[in-house]
Amino acid sequence: MITIALSKGRIFEETMPLLNAAGIQALEDPESSRKLILPTNRADVQLIIVRASDVPTYVQYGAADIGVAGKDVLNEHGGTGLYQPLDLNIAKCRMMVAVRNDFDYEAAVKQGARLRIATKYVQTARAHFAAKGVHVDLIKLYGSMELAPLVGLSDAIVDLVSSGNTLKANNLRAVEHISDVSSRLVVNQAALKLKRNLIQPMLDAFALAIVK
Ligand code: ADP
Ligand code: MG
Repeated sequence: MITIALSKGRIFEETMPLLNAAGIQALEDPESSRKLILPTNRADVQLIIVRASDVPTYVQYGAADIGVAGKDVLNEHGGTGLYQPLDLNIAKCRMMVAVRNDFDYEAAVKQGARLRIATKYVQTARAHFAAKGVHVDLIKLYGSMELAPLVGLSDAIVDLVSSGNTLKANNLRAVEHISDVSSRLVVNQAALKLKRNLIQPMLDAFALAIVK
């Protein structure tokens, strides 16, 4: 049996065409089903639905053989025990620093001010500001980062941006681009050795189906 860990939403939707190209079809839709283990058309392949940030953990411990996770999530996790053979070029966005429109970020940085940063991506934020030589206090949040500068919880946020519409709607502006983000295939290293006859053909099919 091969177990593939996916999160609901855009990663599930954008991974489906790649799975289909490998001859794997989900028999239920995770958006309407309450099941966390979804069967596929193949008796030897099942999908498990987990929180995006939990995908690397399931694969690291071998509870899933394969998973799809954003680079944002992999950065925070550290990637221990994970083989990352393919950038799937899906769920693309950018990791950005953003502030309130009326906050003079450039001046604050120039003056060497200590900045309060609210984010879900603590490791990413710490590394970014350390590299710039900016002193920061990091405040860990689990969602809706855009709210933090509006109510005085932080000076800035580190968050994913795609269209920029959420920033705009909340009177925020992006001030720094930290990195480009897309989702990668992750594979448990032991599973790849033990089940190579099942896993390698899937990796080959995914590689051919990636839209560049
Ligand atoms: P959760 O709500 O569980 O924290 P999301 O569903 O918001 O996770 O995001 C899951 C993954 O999709 C992220 O880890 C990231 O790689 C990607 N992602 C998040 N936001 C965007 C976006 N605006 N555009 C494209 N991809 C995104
Ligand atoms: Mg979300």
